[in-house]
Amino acid sequence: MTASPDLIEDAPKAQEAELPIATLGGDSKRSIEQITLLLFITVPFVALLAAVPLAWGWGVSWLDLGLMTAMYFIGCHGITIGYHRYFTHGSFKAKRPLRIALAIMGSLAVEGPVVRWVADHRKHHKFSDAEGDPHSPWRYGETVPALMKGLWWAHVGWMFDEERTPQQKYAPDLIKDPAIRAISRTFILWTAISLLIPPLVGGLVTWSWQGAATAFFWGSLVRVALLHHVTWSINSICHAVGKRPFKSRDRSGNVWWLAILSCGESWHNLHHADPTSARHGVLRGQIDSSARLIRWFELAGWASDVRWPNAGRIESRRKPRPGEESAPAAGSEKKDAAQAA
Ligand SMILES: [Zn+2]
Ligand SMILES: [Zn+2]
Repeated sequence: MTASPDLIEDAPKAQEAELPIATLGGDSKRSIEQITLLLFITVPFVALLAAVPLAWGWGVSWLDLGLMTAMYFIGCHGITIGYHRYFTHGSFKAKRPLRIALAIMGSLAVEGPVVRWVADHRKHHKFSDAEGDPHSPWRYGETVPALMKGLWWAHVGWMFDEERTPQQKYAPDLIKDPAIRAISRTFILWTAISLLIPPLVGGLVTWSWQGAATAFFWGSLVRVALLHHVTWSINSICHAVGKRPFKSRDRSGNVWWLAILSCGESWHNLHHADPTSARHGVLRGQIDSSARLIRWFELAGWASDVRWPNAGRIESRRKPRPGEESAPAAGSEKKDAAQAA
């Protein structure tokens, strides 16, 4: 007996392939999501970049571009290696100077004081995509309008929430360290330094106020805006779309097109499957600049006890690949043949 159309909603997953797409997990929703997400992230930036020739009448100089890139990746790695992999998850041990440098580099990203960032992020892992997660895009439900609202929430809205993650509960280890506590408390100072380095360098190199102004625009404002959006995209986009080759109890996905800009953090499905791993891009070809730098720190003797993933650990966290679980007879014959060979 076949199900009548009004019963499709409750049809078990195994039948989905044969039935017309009528559930939220269907293919059409995925493309709607993808398109909306791309608009979500690109339109404000295209608008921002388009505003520049209108304001200045010319493009960006190599000096401004260099300042923007350098400051971007210093702050980005401060967040990914420092705030995230080291302070939040303890993926490696760091010598004292590296520990302090990472807290300062992360502060230069203007994403909040280290202790608050870590407390929020630990809470995110504790409740990922369930009640209690500070920034789940699934907060309002699974329909497209609810997801759009949820994406906005996960992207920026959550930061305006009155509720604060209790630091004593989620980051007591950091509060106990006087140097980290001091860096965290002087966040405004690090923000000022972060915003003033580009105009200072730009002004000195070109010896002009104009050079200082354009360096401030590109190296400070555009750089911070871009880094903010990329970091927030890990919370919004990487919890809504992307491939999910690993077992995790949430909706985290691997999003390849954010890998370089996010310094390797967009391999977010692996991260939720194995949060303490020092490398997030564990599969072939997955670029992860943060893992590369941690390796250099290890070789220099600044980092130790690095939790590098090994093949067995990665395999144990992998989902059965499609075709392994429900392969038709022809597929399993092929597999048998491959095993015999
Ligand atoms: Zn996450
Ligand atoms: Zn994490």
